[in-house]
Amino acid sequence: MDLLEYQAKDLFQKVGIPILPSQRIDHPKDLKQLRIPYPIVLKSQVYAGGRGKAGGVRFAENTIDAVAAAQAIFYLPILGQYPEVLLAEAKYEPDQELYLAVVLDPSLRRPLLLGSREGGMALEATSRQIQQVLVDGEFSPFYARRLAINMGLSGGLIESVSAIVEKMYRLFLTYDLDLVEINPLAVNPAGEVMALDGKVAVNDAALERHPDLPVMQSVGGRRDHSAHRPSHSTLAMGPTCSGLAASAFDLPNLNPMLFPGSLGILCNGAGLTMATLDLVDRAGGQPSACLNLGGESSYRLPPDTLCDRLEKGLDWILQTQRLRSVLLNLLGGAETCNAVAGAIARYLKQQRQPVSVPLVVRLGGAHAAAAREQLAALDLSMLFVLDSLDEALTKAIALSEGAGVGR
Ligand code: GDP
Ligand code: MN
Repeated sequence: MDLLEYQAKDLFQKVGIPILPSQRIDHPKDLKQLRIPYPIVLKSQVYAGGRGKAGGVRFAENTIDAVAAAQAIFYLPILGQYPEVLLAEAKYEPDQELYLAVVLDPSLRRPLLLGSREGGMALEATSRQIQQVLVDGEFSPFYARRLAINMGLSGGLIESVSAIVEKMYRLFLTYDLDLVEINPLAVNPAGEVMALDGKVAVNDAALERHPDLPVMQSVGGRRDHSAHRPSHSTLAMGPTCSGLAASAFDLPNLNPMLFPGSLGILCNGAGLTMATLDLVDRAGGQPSACLNLGGESSYRLPPDTLCDRLEKGLDWILQTQRLRSVLLNLLGGAETCNAVAGAIARYLKQQRQPVSVPLVVRLGGAHAAAAREQLAALDLSMLFVLDSLDEALTKAIALSEGAGVGR
């Protein structure tokens, strides 16, 4: 369960991570009783990332500017979600923007410290340069220092940044978090650090242990997104929004490809994705969108599994334009086909309305036969589970060209 930025910052304050003076804004007229001096920054409080690029972060020099900016932000959906509140915050002039996070490594089940000298909105482009330090024993400040040094920091910044990492780690343990992220951690010319943005995800299984966390009363976590999600047509997907779309699902490393056709493609792993695109092309199919869910070995933010990415990928692809069918060409490995099939089944059951676009699934690898049976047993008219890739290609292409869903 995610916290909103202002809720994350309340936690930061508890452990002494520096934040700017701020005030929650429930209505533009609240700005007339603002307790922080201008200039300020107004920020949309939604769960999606990429608010800066989407226009959800605006600066204001006076009350008139601020009211107008607040009105604009309240009416600006970010990936379909309207903010219920805004955060007004003192403006800060950063010299440098760093990225810091503590996550649970999904395969090793150990905390992992992450950091990059190029944070802020530049992070997406540089996400490959994120330094990682695995906390493989009892935590000590040494781990935090090593991260700061690996990030290429020098002088007093090593101390100030590692002190922040230690505090993030304390939050991570105390509240059973899956993720605590600061992006950006701003550094001003005097070398002082300030958390300008914060992201906190609480482990769902541990929620009951932390009744003091604001999640229970929050206006809806990620799970409630469907309540705010617009119908397909309002999400204008074009090549220019592909980065935004991926970052909204907190998957900065996933790069969707968009094409002019009507067949959606989801695969796991770069090789399989490219091969599938080639096969679709050779068979005369016209892709509309293609997403590589990633291999299992490469590390992604926030910690997740192939199954998580599959559910997010389905969510994303089903909102793309012109879509008439989706081909899922997936290979089970460490995450077996059973688990993958379970994720597909769970996704389909969670939808408020039955999925209206036919899904053609081809599963290969560990336990594929049992997984196919599991999906076939769902007996859904929009779900086609085929044994061979050839059959799946033929079916998915025919459906994308308008063939009926009859079997
Ligand atoms: P995100 O795009 O959803 O991650 O939203 P952020 O809160 O990270 O804001 C986006 C960008 O706005 C940051 O990377 C900063 O460059 C900038 N920003 C946010 N808050 C401030 C602030 O108080 N002062 C200044 N100068 N820039 C800010
Ligand atoms: Mn940010």
